[in-house]
Amino acid sequence: MKLIIATNNKHKVRELKSILAPRGYEAVSLADENISVEITEDGDTFEENARIKAEFVYGLTHTPVIADDSGLEVEFLGGAPGIYSARYGGEDLTDTDRNDLLLEELSGVEPELRGAKFVCAVYFIKDDEEQYCFTGELAGYIGTEPLGDGGFGYDPIFMLDEDTSLATLPEEEKNQLSHRAKALKQLEEELRKQ
Ligand code: IMP
Repeated sequence: MKLIIATNNKHKVRELKSILAPRGYEAVSLADENISVEITEDGDTFEENARIKAEFVYGLTHTPVIADDSGLEVEFLGGAPGIYSARYGGEDLTDTDRNDLLLEELSGVEPELRGAKFVCAVYFIKDDEEQYCFTGELAGYIGTEPLGDGGFGYDPIFMLDEDTSLATLPEEEKNQLSHRAKALKQLEEELRKQ
């Protein structure tokens, strides 16, 4: 069965294709389908934003679709940047700028108040009747300086322990334990039942 992945992120497409192929799904990206859309993500939660993207693409194609939405929640900041993670501090900032901004906002904050988590919601529309939403989380804390040069986004300041930021892990290792991996694992279990 054909399944559209509602993202333009090549990394997510590759990860999803490899999970879905053994389940008999031929996963294709928006680009593969020549679909070029800017979807307004105006939901209040990761789940809502993933649903908005999935429903938009399903409305166009009437083909099974998967969409995801993810971000970082910092306890001390009341859950910010949250659903605004990709554009926190302004559209023009680089990932490095955004990490510096967060480090500044947490400057002088005690270690026990620096807790944070990555969250990923995956929304799967199979047909008009069947829809599923799965959420995965990865807990950690915000360090006091960037560490490592792997990964992307907030990885260099997201610590698992004092020597390990997500940006110090090899890609395969991060992809085993990430918030995205945990959400996709649940999707995989659901697909296995079908
Ligand atoms: P989106 O789900 O592609 O819209 O990602 C939202 C934003 O959350 C990204 O631009 C990153 O800033 C952040 N983010 C999501 N997942 C990760 C991750 O695994 N590592 C680092 N940053 C992430």
